[in-house]
Amino acid sequence: MAKRDYYEILGVSKDASDDEIKKAYRKLSKKYHPDINKEPDASDRFKEVAEAYEVLSDSQKRAAYDQYGHASTDPNFGGGYGGFGGGAGGFDGFTGGFDDIFETFFGGGGGRGRSYNAPRQGADLQYRLHLKFEEAIFGKKETIRYAREEICGTCDGSGAKPGTQPKTCSKCHGSGAMQVERNTPFGRVMTQTVCDVCQGTGKEIVEKCQTCRGNGHVEKEHSVNVTIPAGVEDGQQLRLAGQGEVGSNGGPYGDLYVIFSVEESDIFDREGAEIYYVQPISFAQAALGTEVEVPTVHGNVKLKIPAGTQTGTNFRLKGKGAPRLRGNGQGDQHVKVTIVTPKNLNDKQREALHAFAEASGDSVSHEEGGFFDKMRDAFNLDGKQKKK
Ligand SMILES: [Zn+2]
Ligand SMILES: [Zn+2]
Repeated sequence: MAKRDYYEILGVSKDASDDEIKKAYRKLSKKYHPDINKEPDASDRFKEVAEAYEVLSDSQKRAAYDQYGHASTDPNFGGGYGGFGGGAGGFDGFTGGFDDIFETFFGGGGGRGRSYNAPRQGADLQYRLHLKFEEAIFGKKETIRYAREEICGTCDGSGAKPGTQPKTCSKCHGSGAMQVERNTPFGRVMTQTVCDVCQGTGKEIVEKCQTCRGNGHVEKEHSVNVTIPAGVEDGQQLRLAGQGEVGSNGGPYGDLYVIFSVEESDIFDREGAEIYYVQPISFAQAALGTEVEVPTVHGNVKLKIPAGTQTGTNFRLKGKGAPRLRGNGQGDQHVKVTIVTPKNLNDKQREALHAFAEASGDSVSHEEGGFFDKMRDAFNLDGKQKKK
């Protein structure tokens, strides 16, 4: 899309004075400000106006624009001007500042006005609580301790020495706000900021409380009893209302978020309420059937393995999982059976297996050792003479 001429955007002539450019800009930026103008293209217009003003309000950039047109605002434009502060980046910085200026025009009348001395809730805190695998499943009660800012007990939060009263701030007369002059592209404007005498409280403390040095709050060790519900999982959190930091200007305490960090188990895997366990069994047990003791978080449970069970078969132990945090009942424990091939057979086992192979018509190796034993013998790697 072709860029419009900056003078045309601002509706001024090529020889407009700085004042005329400034006036045109103020008028148009109010007209197209997205907070005021709800036309779909208002925000594009607004940016266009701001961009035009950025260039035309700067005598050097304006001269370059007059000579080279839009090419002069290209971040790659050299032209002997040593760069113009890098296109988009510089422009964003400018519009950021512009929002502040704009607030000043409207005096915060759009409902965005700040009240520095209003009560505000304190900050939220986080506490990472480590739980063992079983603790997360069964829940527990625990007392946790942490440091937080609390209302000073000596002055009850006023910050004034007991027996004295804070007085209304002489600078801001209790509003907590003060006016400051700022330099902007339009010259000096007044903006509102937090009062530097009372830090926004609206009150001045004549004689400070010794305990809190006038802050009205002190850091203290705080303890809370936490009931960890059965069935919590790693990463889940519990919100404890009012257990965070003290509020300002008499506002309520913030909240505490207890985040659970659950240890893994050496033998179990868990997904929600379901628990997974791998049970190794021998080939004979799988072929002939057996009953095995399977560990669960609820204690050992007997599991019947039917004859002819294949490796990888899953069994379900109903209700032996973790409690369902939402909803009723318990999950299950899933037992996956794996058949372990025996190593280092003794003579009796080997004999029995040969007999089994013969009965099945399977061809098997009749060597004593396996492949690697034979290799070792062939190359005499262990340095000893194998006796026949
Ligand atoms: Zn105090
Ligand atoms: Zn003040």
